[in-house]
Amino acid sequence: MAARAEVLALQAQVAQREKELSSLRQRLAEALSAEQEPEQEPERPVPVPPLPPKAALSRAEILRYSRQLVLPELGVAGQLRLAAASVLVVGCGGLGCPLAQYLAAAGVGRLGLVDYDVVELSNLARQVLHGEALAGRANKAFSAAAALRRLNSAVQCVPYAEALTPATARDLVGRYDVVADCSDNVPTRYLVSDACVLAGRPLVSASALRFEGQLTVYHHDGGPCYRCVFPEPPPADTVTSCADGGVLGAVTGILGCLQALEVLKIAAGLGPSYSGRMLLFDALAGQFRAIRLRGRRADCAACGERPTVTALQDYEAFCGSAATDKCRSLHLLRPEERVSVTDYKRLLDSEVPHLLLDVRPKVEVDICRLPHSLHIPLKCLEQRDAASLRLLGEAIREARQGVQDGADLPVYVICKLGNDSQKAVKILQSWSVTREFDVLLVQDIVGGLMAWAAKVDASFPEY
Ligand SMILES: [Zn+2]
Repeated sequence: MAARAEVLALQAQVAQREKELSSLRQRLAEALSAEQEPEQEPERPVPVPPLPPKAALSRAEILRYSRQLVLPELGVAGQLRLAAASVLVVGCGGLGCPLAQYLAAAGVGRLGLVDYDVVELSNLARQVLHGEALAGRANKAFSAAAALRRLNSAVQCVPYAEALTPATARDLVGRYDVVADCSDNVPTRYLVSDACVLAGRPLVSASALRFEGQLTVYHHDGGPCYRCVFPEPPPADTVTSCADGGVLGAVTGILGCLQALEVLKIAAGLGPSYSGRMLLFDALAGQFRAIRLRGRRADCAACGERPTVTALQDYEAFCGSAATDKCRSLHLLRPEERVSVTDYKRLLDSEVPHLLLDVRPKVEVDICRLPHSLHIPLKCLEQRDAASLRLLGEAIREARQGVQDGADLPVYVICKLGNDSQKAVKILQSWSVTREFDVLLVQDIVGGLMAWAAKVDASFPEY
């Protein structure tokens, strides 16, 4: 019995210590996040004077940069050039984080960091300068600046917690020697490129999506600009963002590092490797390939002989899409062809017979789904996949049994954000017209499953 009493007493002590430990951990987490709190954001970025040329390296600098100083291609002269160089980083995300990290570590004199967005948990898998303590709380430019100062306090970091706009871009770009486009959308790419042409700055550009990446240098030493290579923007609905298509963090990391390398070579006077050439990276196959780009176009609207782009314009209108990679909202349907998630919830609660069609790719359905939904990917509808059509026909027949004779079966289409669902409604409507499927009441659910998670069911996963 004595042993039993001792066990109980020890258990009580362990429980007490665990409680104390948990409270200590909580206090430590709070103290750490307070320590990482970036400085308060000023109302307006302070204008910064140009960097003075540097005459010599200090003893501390020689020690710090010793491994790169002994490279004959770089040497003291190259390091002094880096120290006097300034680089504007447009976008502090998956590319901008590794890029800025290596530029700061290598001793680039000043880094301008542009990002209007906030640190988000769902981006930390690739945006490696930001920590979870600041998720949802800090602007990415400020978070990146704080992290870079911890890495190398000698580097001047100038955060710009704002979107690059046609009103600000030319002036901002002109204040830096080299520009790195780490943005995630087409309008910003045209904006940055045109601003670089107007301000006479070289542009190191990279992008990454899924398992693929690209890198090139624009407007360097008579080389082509972005418009020379892409005179017209792609149709807005063909552009896939990282939020839609996914991306592996290591892929953006590799591209960001390659981008840093090109920036460093330009800033140190070694010259870039990818002016007029584009590097293509296939991460699944583990292959790099370089293709030659066509040279500068004499008729280029920006850098040609008679340029028509003499001032920055409205790039969202030019590209027909927003200068952001998230919440791209298509408007393919009329309001009466759509229902809100709250209306759908009401309908579900009142047990109205209907069919819910989830048109997301299988990989997303594996992450989460509404249990009563029928899954047929949009691609299968677009390709009129025979097995999928059979499945849909059966589900419609079954759901119809609950509907009064002569009445239409309501079919609701859902996806992640409410874009693909609209495309699917269009397809189903065209089939209804031809009476292929006698489905007359097809609507999509506005905002998709992410709206469902935000407004109806907080326990539903967001991704
Ligand atoms: Zn051009």
